[in-house]
Amino acid sequence: MTNKIKQLQAFDKEHIWHPYTSMTRPLKTYAVKSASGVHITLKDGTRLIDGMSSWWAAIHGYNHPVLNNAAKEQLDKMSHIMFGGLTHDPAVKLSKRLIDITPESLNRIFLCDSGSVSVEVAIKMAFQYWHSLGKPQKNKLITVRSGYHGDTFYAMSVCDPVTGMHHTFKDVLPKHYFADKPGCKFHDTWDDEYIHAMETLIQEHYQSCAAVIIEPVVQGAGGMRFYSPHYLKKLKALCKKYELLLIFDEIATGFGRTGKLFACDHAKVSPDIMCVGKALTGGYLTLAATLATQQVGDVISQGECGVFMHGPTYMGNPLACSIAISNINLLLSYDWESKIHHIESKLTSGLQDCQNFSHVEDVRVLGGIGVVEMKAPVEIETIQQKFVDKGIWIRPFGKLIYTMPPYIIEDDQLDTLTQKITQIVYKEGAQ
Ligand SMILES: *Cc1c(COP(=O)(O)O)cnc(C)c1O
Repeated sequence: MTNKIKQLQAFDKEHIWHPYTSMTRPLKTYAVKSASGVHITLKDGTRLIDGMSSWWAAIHGYNHPVLNNAAKEQLDKMSHIMFGGLTHDPAVKLSKRLIDITPESLNRIFLCDSGSVSVEVAIKMAFQYWHSLGKPQKNKLITVRSGYHGDTFYAMSVCDPVTGMHHTFKDVLPKHYFADKPGCKFHDTWDDEYIHAMETLIQEHYQSCAAVIIEPVVQGAGGMRFYSPHYLKKLKALCKKYELLLIFDEIATGFGRTGKLFACDHAKVSPDIMCVGKALTGGYLTLAATLATQQVGDVISQGECGVFMHGPTYMGNPLACSIAISNINLLLSYDWESKIHHIESKLTSGLQDCQNFSHVEDVRVLGGIGVVEMKAPVEIETIQQKFVDKGIWIRPFGKLIYTMPPYIIEDDQLDTLTQKITQIVYKEGAQ
């Protein structure tokens, strides 16, 4: 058995790329046998409490009977069918559901195959919108620093130019306008100063810009930062005044993670275009969606092309859509809001000791997200091993050790998670 694991790891190391890793000096990978509920079981028998929800996605934990069942039932009908000229229950029911639960003005939907693609689609919609209105010169974007919107080229071009992991491509990427990241924390009392830089940028460049794109309230992979919902209210007003579309990227924040169903619900602000993904299928299959207002849909359709120019092969995949419907129903079937609130208070108390360590820069919690920001970057491979040795799955990056556990996590498991994180963070200071 151990030999088999070694063979598997050896082949993996030699041939297979992992996210953001080297082919010649790859980071260690751990072989997984299975995952169920809040637990990940490695091939060597080690059982880990999952603190990552597989990057925001597995909100109900792994191997959930309801989601398994949705997949099995759909599998016997059809797992895929082309979306050109055909439609089906899973796509229609999911679209109806998403239109119902997202901000009211969003009622046109495009089903995509991944988060990055949904961002590409959102940007393309914005460009086609202005093109259709006879203003093709409005073809740049405005955003904030510390953002993350995905790894495809146009998505890369609106990621933070430094921390967004894509500075290597700066010469080939289209240039956009970046305002400083929102300077206010989530609970800070509002001061108009916080949006001043953005306002100036908009005033200077709105004539050449199609839209503002932003992750509402939580900036994820670009720095795990939380900012005041008030910022979004002001931003919406500015977009209206200066004729810019507003795009919200809710791919990480959607489906309850921040304590509201969507992060923009904290601000009660409705965008013109919105992306959802990640937790959409509860971590089962890749699926995302771009929602838009009727206005956006109508204008694009009245333009020179007359159609929206996009159509991926696996668009509206019935298997993924069926699982997504069950996933959303499952979420709405219980008092998820109280559960997230409870996780928030447990994370807050469980991680608060880290605040006292001199090598820790900041500790912050919002909804089901807990972040310990170190003063210096962590050594990923060694710290990862320590987490595994302690029986938890945490995957830090840069200076950030963070957790967003599945919503089904129980109190004792959450205690274990925060205690072990605290112990390891503490020891980092002794090095
Ligand atoms: C993960 C993420 C994306 C990209 O989604 P993929 O499915 O990985 O392509 C885009 N925007 C945000 C905010 C994300 O967190």
